[in-house]
Amino acid sequence: MVGGVPDSKESFWTFERSELLERLWRKGTPVPEIMRELPGTTKGMIIGKAHRLCLPNLHPAPPAPKRMRSEDFEGCRWIEGDPLPLRRGMFCGRPRELGSSYCPYHTLMSKRKS
Ligand SMILES: [Zn+2]
Repeated sequence: MVGGVPDSKESFWTFERSELLERLWRKGTPVPEIMRELPGTTKGMIIGKAHRLCLPNLHPAPPAPKRMRSEDFEGCRWIEGDPLPLRRGMFCGRPRELGSSYCPYHTLMSKRKS
């Protein structure tokens, strides 16, 4: 049996525990929940260990939604006018046709319009 109280923060992090932390962290599990899954940890231990594992910094907050600037926007620039759930803000966002600002479908639409 594996027993004993961890005598230091590092010996606490067995392979299994590190793996569980990594799995939970990558799922975006909130730190308090990870602490419940790994009894005996503290917030500092979780975050410190995640940093040592070089896990992407998913905590504490998800990245703020980026304001879209049309100049760094790669997809189709057709502005959707219908109430369907919009992709990437108000632009169509589908892959562009070569040499066009629009996807193949909207390239056709723009030619039809003009
Ligand atoms: Zn489009």
